[in-house]
Amino acid sequence: MKEVPAYKNYINGKWRSTQGKWEKVINPANEKVLAEVNLSTPSEVDEAVLAAKRAQSVWKTVPAPEKGELLFEISQKLKERKEELSQLLTSENGKPIQEARGEVQEAIDMGFYMAGEGRRLFGQTVPAELPNKHAMSIRCPVGTAGLITPWNFPIAIASWKMFPAIISGNTVVWKPAIETPGMADAFVRILDECGLPPGVVNLVHGTGETAGNAIVEHSQIDIVSFTGSTETGRLIASKAGSMLKKVSLEMGGKNAITVMDSADIDLAVDGILWSGFGTSGQRCTAASRIIVHRAVKKELEKVLVKRTKELMIGDGAKEDTDVGPVISRKALESIHEYVNIGRQEGELLCGGRILEGKHSKGNYYEPTVITNVHPSARIAQEEIFGPVISIIPVENFDEAMKVNNDSAYGLSSSIFTKDANEVFRAMHEMDTGIVYVNAGTTGAEIHLPFGGTKKTGNGHRDSGTASLDVFTEWKSVYVDYSGSLQRAQIDNN
Ligand code: NAD
Repeated sequence: MKEVPAYKNYINGKWRSTQGKWEKVINPANEKVLAEVNLSTPSEVDEAVLAAKRAQSVWKTVPAPEKGELLFEISQKLKERKEELSQLLTSENGKPIQEARGEVQEAIDMGFYMAGEGRRLFGQTVPAELPNKHAMSIRCPVGTAGLITPWNFPIAIASWKMFPAIISGNTVVWKPAIETPGMADAFVRILDECGLPPGVVNLVHGTGETAGNAIVEHSQIDIVSFTGSTETGRLIASKAGSMLKKVSLEMGGKNAITVMDSADIDLAVDGILWSGFGTSGQRCTAASRIIVHRAVKKELEKVLVKRTKELMIGDGAKEDTDVGPVISRKALESIHEYVNIGRQEGELLCGGRILEGKHSKGNYYEPTVITNVHPSARIAQEEIFGPVISIIPVENFDEAMKVNNDSAYGLSSSIFTKDANEVFRAMHEMDTGIVYVNAGTTGAEIHLPFGGTKKTGNGHRDSGTASLDVFTEWKSVYVDYSGSLQRAQIDNN
């Protein structure tokens, strides 16, 4: 058998095998074994946490502009390796190569952006209430951060958390998903090559139940930043909450695109195809509900079904692939189960099959459109995380907003319309963390906050300067240079 890479932990600057078991890493496009990954035990997580804790006392004293220079070098190196990383990403995750390049670019952008924060990390200087007194606020690191990330954006999401964490003086223990350990290995090798001091970032591979849980429950982890399913997030929040730890959660979504009667239908279909079937519907921002004004429903369905059937399904490594495989057999079966429910809840317009024949070696699901779905139907309420969209007809704008907001989740919403009043009303009325106008629900830019409301998040944001709020504590500082005791919060009159 051909030798495959064996992914190990990186603790205190050293690559180390663990006492735990090994798990195979499978290419979802063809079921080939790509690598093996070592599964950490809780005691190995403990070692990583202690290394991070030790390193933090020094790392927090390194001037932020110096940290920024290092981040700049790391981003430069990511840029040089972009193609190699993108191909690795496609092989592990299945997403089409052009999307993989986009994802790696996002990590590069985030690195350069946070490198610049090394010379900002702004606090506030404000006028004091009393004479001869100076008042200001400064950011301080939280401490040792546990990062737990999913397979669907293995490097972008890691970069949204890792770069703000380290620029602001925290150290990190990172547990990536076991489906995409090669991306984590490659990312950390770049950090190492660029000279990130030992212990600042530690990588522990492993299952959520063992390695992930050991991070969450470790008394020396000061903050947990998690992206993944709402189910896991709830579990993590309850454990971290009982230990009074800071916890940032980015979780599931049930995103909707609204198409109004004034919309450019071809443009709306472009947006629906990209957001509904890009990454095979496995983006947290994937559109899975299409809310359409009855006046344009027939036309939209006609164009959408035609264009859906034209999508090229196959191995993401091929440049002309539109829709790649889904992550696993288990995911494939779960998607199919939802589609079978959908057949009862609506009317299948196209798709609905696990692909066989030349696709039988991989996890391919036919892009699927189901129409006349009631807003409260299960397929309109539950996250499917596959290439399946439900069309929900509405009579008017007010009803569209009501349906859009009738979801337990609140990540991303979009509206296609040419009516300026509807644009501004939608901006204010859609209750999600992200709103797009005349574009699909996907495609965040790294310098704005990323995250959602309701069961999608717990009030924090990844990316943008908002991510610094996750990884820093505010400290208010008052300097009294009057030479006498001036009492604030007392009525001197
Ligand atoms: P998941 O919750 O199964 O796993 C995510 C990570 O958590 C993995 O590293 C996993 O090993 C770990 N984990 C699992 N159980 C754990 C436990 N008990 N304790 C600690 N860690 C544990 O999610 P997934 O299936 O890998 O990812 C898909 C989900 O992620 C979808 O619901 C999607 O919407 C969501 N997601 C959300 C965003 C966002 O920003 N809102 C972005 C991407 C993905």
